[in-house]
Amino acid sequence: MKELKEWLKEKQVERTIKALQGNGFQVRYFPEKSQAREYILSQIPQHATVGIGGSLTLGEIGLFEGLRNLQINLINPSSKKLSREEAYNLRRQALTADIFLTGTNALTEDGHIYNIDASGNRVGAMFFGPQKVLVVAGTNKIVKDVTDARRRIKEIAAPMNARRLGYKTPCVELGQCVECKPPESMCNVTVIIEKKPRSTDLEIVLIGESLGL
Ligand code: SF4
Repeated sequence: MKELKEWLKEKQVERTIKALQGNGFQVRYFPEKSQAREYILSQIPQHATVGIGGSLTLGEIGLFEGLRNLQINLINPSSKKLSREEAYNLRRQALTADIFLTGTNALTEDGHIYNIDASGNRVGAMFFGPQKVLVVAGTNKIVKDVTDARRRIKEIAAPMNARRLGYKTPCVELGQCVECKPPESMCNVTVIIEKKPRSTDLEIVLIGESLGL
């Protein structure tokens, strides 16, 4: 049974990589997170400005420990000790970093990158501003199409993320999305990157493990 499931997953990953490449994205696949981490660290030049988009995946692959050993200017708005204003300013700075590292809510089998943001700073930096963008994702983020991507976010990622961050959204209370409105909504900006943005060197680092939400 395990072998059959692995075979099916392998086929899904293969067709997703092919579709993403067909839409102009560079894709690197690594079976294990440690390999992906070393690759990402090797892509960051000395003294680069490195912006971070909110992502559990980056933490799960141990990236922050690796970044601490590099001579870089790290811009991490999700750092715990920041005031609201400091975090806001760092989000703005990350929009023009040399390199932007982020996770993604979903990748579709037909080759698109799908995300929903509260403020939009993470998705904005994904398609314009930074010279290079590395989108890091486990294969659990692969879904069939944009309809399934939206469903996945609303049913799984957003409620769990809201609970993790201590937000008082209706989905935290109910365990399901009721399409709440601002100011409590954290689902305000939906971005589908259909094909490689012309001015951005966007690469997807896909990892053969289940990572993030
Ligand atoms: S729209 Fe509101 S209720 Fe739905 S997932 Fe987003 S924050 Fe939760």
